[in-house]
Amino acid sequence: MNDIQRLPAVDRVLQQLPESIAAHGRQMVTACVRAELAAAREGLRHGLPLPDESTLYAAIRRRADEAGRANLRPVFNLTGTVLHTNLGRAQLAEEAIAAMVEAARAPCALEYDLASGGRGDRDDLVSGLLAEIVAGGSPEIAATIVNNNAAAVLLTLNALAQGKEAVVSRGELVEIGGAFRIPDVMRRAQVKLHEIGTTNRTHAKDFQEAIGPKTALLMKIHTSNYAVTGFTAAVDEKVIAGIAHGAGLPFVIDLGSGTLCDFAAHGLPAEPTPQQALAAGADIVTFSGDKLLGGPQAGLIVGRKDLIAKIKKNPLKRALRVGKTTLAALEATLRLYRDPDRLAERLPTLRLLTRPLDNITALAERLQPDVQGAIGAQATVSVAPCSSQIGSGALPVERLPSIALRLSPNAKKPGKALLAIEAAFRSLPMPVIGYIRDDAYHLDLRCLEAKDEARFVAQLQHLKF
Ligand SMILES: *Cc1c(COP(=O)(O)O)cnc(C)c1O
Repeated sequence: MNDIQRLPAVDRVLQQLPESIAAHGRQMVTACVRAELAAAREGLRHGLPLPDESTLYAAIRRRADEAGRANLRPVFNLTGTVLHTNLGRAQLAEEAIAAMVEAARAPCALEYDLASGGRGDRDDLVSGLLAEIVAGGSPEIAATIVNNNAAAVLLTLNALAQGKEAVVSRGELVEIGGAFRIPDVMRRAQVKLHEIGTTNRTHAKDFQEAIGPKTALLMKIHTSNYAVTGFTAAVDEKVIAGIAHGAGLPFVIDLGSGTLCDFAAHGLPAEPTPQQALAAGADIVTFSGDKLLGGPQAGLIVGRKDLIAKIKKNPLKRALRVGKTTLAALEATLRLYRDPDRLAERLPTLRLLTRPLDNITALAERLQPDVQGAIGAQATVSVAPCSSQIGSGALPVERLPSIALRLSPNAKKPGKALLAIEAAFRSLPMPVIGYIRDDAYHLDLRCLEAKDEARFVAQLQHLKF
C-alpha cells in the first residue's frame, strides 16, 4: 500500500467531524474533506510526508469554519475616523437595532393605515417626526426617504428640474468618495448644470444673472469634504432663497451630513443643520441618514409639502425607496432626538464624538499592558495623543483630540514589521483596524467602548505573526 492509499476514506473522515457537520451541514463539510484529501494527495506526489490524521482533521475543521464564516463581519474600528464609510458609517442606537429586529421578524404596518384599515404610505412613518424635529411640527413640511443621499439628490433634481437647468456655484461642484460627482449626477438626472461664479468666489449677482426661461431651481451644495479658504466669497442662504423666490423658483440645499442637533451645544465644531437651512428659506434639503444623524443608510428629502408630493410621484422614487428595516431604524433614531438630554448617551455617533479625553486615556492605560504582553518583543507599546476625525466628509478640517496605543516596532527597518503587525490585528477573530503613521501602528481608542473592552482583550491571545 503506498502513502496515497493510506489516506483515510471520505466517509471515515466524516465520522470524526460531528461538530463541523452540526455547524455547517454534511454537504459543505464533505466538500472540505475532499478538498483537504486532494491537497494531501498532491503533497504526497511532491514528496511531502503523509499527514497524520489529527492534523488532517484540524485542517478540515479550519476550512469548514472559514467557509461558514459570514463575509460581512464586525470589526473594531480603531482607525480614528468615527464615521468610516468603508466600515459601515454610523453604529446604530440600541433602540434602532431593536426596532429593526422587530420589523424583520414579524409583519408590520409598513404601508397600512391601522386607523382606517386602508392603504398607508411608508414615508408617513417618519415624515411627521422629521417635520417636528426640523420645523417645529409645521404642517407645511413633509419628507420622503430613499436609499442614500446620492439617491436623494438624483431624485430631487430629476423630479424638479428634468429637461431644465439647475444653477450651482463653481465652488460647490463636489466629488464625494465613491464616484458621486455633482456634474455627473446632474447629467444622469437629465438636468443641465448651469455653473456660476468662480472656484473661490460667487456673488448674489451671479445667481441673479443666471436665471432665465430654462431655470428650474437654484441649488447649494455643502462642501462637506473640503474647505475653500483665503480670498473667498459665497452667497448667504437667505440671499439665494430671496433671489429664487423672487423668480418663483425653488431653492434646494444638499447638506450632505446634516446633523439634527446643535453640535456646538455638545462642544463640537458647528455643522449646518436642516433646521437652519429651512429657516433660511430653503424649499428642499437633502442629507444622509448614516452620517452625523447617526441612523441607518438612507437619504432624507425634507421640505415644502407640494414639492415633496411632486418628488414622490416621480417613478424613480419607487426604484430608490427604502425597506421596512431601514424605516424602523430611522424612526427609532429620530425618536431619540425628542429627548436631547439623553441624546449623547443613547446615540453612538454623538457619544463617540463627545467622549471625554480622560475616559479614553484611562482605557489606554488599562489596555497598554495587555497589548504589550500580546505583542511581546515585536514592538514597544505606549499611550500617545492622536487626533480623530469625524469622517464621511463631515467637518473635513476639524480634528478631535484623542488617545491611541502606539506600537513602535523594535526592528531596525520598521516598514515590514509594521505591515506584519497591521495584518496580525486584521486577522484576529474580530478584526482590529488601526492605522500606520510616523513609523508606528496606532490604535485610536475613541471608538472602543467599555462594553467591548473584555472582548478586545480576550482575543489578543490569538495575535499571531
Ligand atoms: C455624503 C454626501 C453625499 C452622498 O451621500 P450618501 O448618503 O453617501 O449617498 C452627497 N452630497 C454631499 C454634500 C455629501 O456630503
